[in-house]
Amino acid sequence: MTNIALPIAPEAEQETSTQPSDAQKPALIGMALPELRALVQEMDEPTFRADQLHHWLYVKCVRHFDEMSNLKKTFRDKLAERYQVGSLVIDRKEVSQDGTVKYLFRLPDGKVVESVLMYFEERGSYAICLSTQVGCAVNCGFCATAKLGFLRNLSVGEIAEQYLYVQSDSGKEIRNIVFMGQGEPLLNYDNLMQSIQILNQSAEVGIRHITISTSGIVPRIYDLARENRQLTLAVSLHAPDDETREAIMPINRKWPLDELMPALHHYVDTTGKRLTIEYILLAGVNDQPGHAHALGVLLKGLKCNVNLIPYNPIGDGYGFKRPSGNAIHRFREVVSSYGKKVTIRVERGVDIAAACGQLANKVQAGLA
Ligand code: SAH
Ligand code: SF4
Repeated sequence: MTNIALPIAPEAEQETSTQPSDAQKPALIGMALPELRALVQEMDEPTFRADQLHHWLYVKCVRHFDEMSNLKKTFRDKLAERYQVGSLVIDRKEVSQDGTVKYLFRLPDGKVVESVLMYFEERGSYAICLSTQVGCAVNCGFCATAKLGFLRNLSVGEIAEQYLYVQSDSGKEIRNIVFMGQGEPLLNYDNLMQSIQILNQSAEVGIRHITISTSGIVPRIYDLARENRQLTLAVSLHAPDDETREAIMPINRKWPLDELMPALHHYVDTTGKRLTIEYILLAGVNDQPGHAHALGVLLKGLKCNVNLIPYNPIGDGYGFKRPSGNAIHRFREVVSSYGKKVTIRVERGVDIAAACGQLANKVQAGLA
């Protein structure tokens, strides 16, 4: 398959090279309506200007003050003196033959994160995978992002802007958001929840169209249950017993299955929502029929679907292999026999990157 690496967008060049001071200005994206109201009031403008600004930022998704045509020029100039619309710059963009587009965003401090735009033919709609942190502290053995370690949390604006920027750049209406990019979303809980609030309330993405994937941060699962939002929680379980899970996910030492499973039952009981259980398939590690039976037993009585993720090789030295097609289907049959709906995750953009996190990882390390 061919690989089309697009050059840096002209506007990105402008933002980095000719107006470096802009990067120091606070970004408006990330501010909710009450904050925008306070801001226009402080600038001696009438309140309705905040509503107009809000519409340009979150519904029209414009990138420049000049495009905000119903704001008078003097106000636009005043805004541009003090603020920037957003703080992300497209560093690189890769387009796959299956329609998947991988965006590499450069943050004001030079770090990079990835977002992936995916088209789902059967639904006829677009979904985006967003990052919540630069790097990740959880250190799962099979994950490219883990190799970076934890660098920092993304701000509310940096999380929401990935969606807005890709929507504006692609011209597509993106209806679904999955928090499955770089980072552990529940370890950046407050910024995650505020960005969801903005994406839902301001950018009008349906809350039922938002999925958070977590490696199992137990106290935050209870917090999320308390919020009782109708979003989907996906949990990276990846093994049916502590021994296997601990070997690939060190987080299991902190929150083993006898703490995680009750949290998941509590989540379902409180919200009534069906969970997604993610299960990566690593040949010879967690893909044997015995693992599938144990998973079926572990999930008994839990309202959930199971999503099997055949391992995406992320380079030499990780020591993992993807199971054969037969082994994957056999695993699926066994888990299905316990009454669960089991799907196998379809790979997206195989020709542009092996796994989420890999491109950002290489760029960060100066390898790409
Ligand atoms: N940190 C969150 C969300 C990001 S990762 C989490 O771990 O859930 C999204 C999903 O991709 C997780 O289920 C993760 O375990 C899985 N994943 C990570 N590396 C992978 C790889 N090399 N191949 C296949 N899936 C992988
Ligand atoms: Fe972090 Fe998720 Fe990667 Fe684990 S799989 S290291 S939690 S991003």
